[in-house]
Amino acid sequence: MKTELSEKLFAKANTLFPGGVNSPVRAFKGVGGGPRFIARGKGSRLFDVDGNAYLDYVGSWGPLILGHCNPEVMREVQDAMKSGASFGAPSPREIVLAELIRERMPWVEKMRFVSSGTEATTGAIRLARGFTGRDDLVKFDGCFHGAGDSVLVKAGSGVETLGLPDSPGVPADFAKHTLTLPYNDLAAAEALFAARGGTIAAVIVEPVVGNMGVLVPRPGFLEGIHALCRKHGALFIVDEVMTGFRLAMGGACDRLGLRPDLVTFGKVIGGGLPVGAFGGRAEVMDRIAPAGPVYQSGTLSGNPMAMGAGIATLRQLTPASYERLEAASARLAEGLAAAAREAGVPVQVNRVGSMLTVFFSEQPVFDAQSARGCDTKRFSRFFHAMLEAGVYLPPSQFEAAFVSLAHSDEDVEATLDAAKVAFRAALQ
Ligand code: PLP
Repeated sequence: MKTELSEKLFAKANTLFPGGVNSPVRAFKGVGGGPRFIARGKGSRLFDVDGNAYLDYVGSWGPLILGHCNPEVMREVQDAMKSGASFGAPSPREIVLAELIRERMPWVEKMRFVSSGTEATTGAIRLARGFTGRDDLVKFDGCFHGAGDSVLVKAGSGVETLGLPDSPGVPADFAKHTLTLPYNDLAAAEALFAARGGTIAAVIVEPVVGNMGVLVPRPGFLEGIHALCRKHGALFIVDEVMTGFRLAMGGACDRLGLRPDLVTFGKVIGGGLPVGAFGGRAEVMDRIAPAGPVYQSGTLSGNPMAMGAGIATLRQLTPASYERLEAASARLAEGLAAAAREAGVPVQVNRVGSMLTVFFSEQPVFDAQSARGCDTKRFSRFFHAMLEAGVYLPPSQFEAAFVSLAHSDEDVEATLDAAKVAFRAALQ
């Protein structure tokens, strides 16, 4: 595979951007080698600047559930742009997208649009603190909720890949208000609440973890956390930035029967453009400025092109879409597990809906600790063999791969053919 142009661009990018990239995981540090510079995408495929084609299972890290260059998304964005890129004033598309969200998730009674998942979680956490008058936040080891100061503590994938448990620059005085617990361990949460429940403003959780690779919640775990929040007067924040509109029409909350106080969104609701949102109980949301005293704002919040991309995306997602995603993803996961078995490579394939991770581990992977036990060298060899065969997986053991509606049955079979060879390469 020719990669000269990508290498040249990466050398130049290194003179312009720290590590040559504008978001850390793109630099391939977790797998070695240099990133491919992407020229364009179409359907299930990415094309790099050297002319190589890849079946894409990153999908811009989750937003592209319809695949690249979906015609209706493009049409909506172009239509919006013709009327002006941004107004900094209310515009009708905000209402259309908000109603699409609330129809599918009635527990999101009111919401605020922002421009990224990080802004969404930052806003939701500030609101929870403002609403309860408490300072402490509980999160789970390995869950990632964006790059805000409160949540860059035991934050999974990106920091995991780089081996930085916390980030310098987050004041210790601030980080001390973020209490971390092991995912899937309700007893640990019960003990923490018993000791200091009165100081806890909120618990934030990825309902299905994607940012430590895919971790599946144990039955009763999330319900138990919600019950603890209720008992102690803390808010329950479900971070659906990755899972919202990906795991079901009503997101992970619908799939798992959760009715949280606050929910955060990003990725799919922006159809590939910069959109995030947080929302939930009207009584809580009405504490946000200008209705209430908790401040939050954004120059480009509710941007018409971004709203258009979200509207076109949500309108195309039907119950049949999720059946299709389930079937394709199940076939992929089963085929990957079978290919690994045939090659004699011990793996755990964790999957929920169209999110999946092949963990190179002999043991079940259910929390950050068990994920850290994976053979990342094997993963790297597997990753590079797949890349060479034209399959673009997330460049880290601690990330979720995403199946889109653009992936055909033939794409899935081609991926499995590549995996049969790549698992053997992983052993070397
Ligand atoms: N929350 C979750 C669960 C995420 O997966 C991410 C990003 O991957 C974020 C928050 C942050 O979103 P963004 O990268 O749009 O700021």
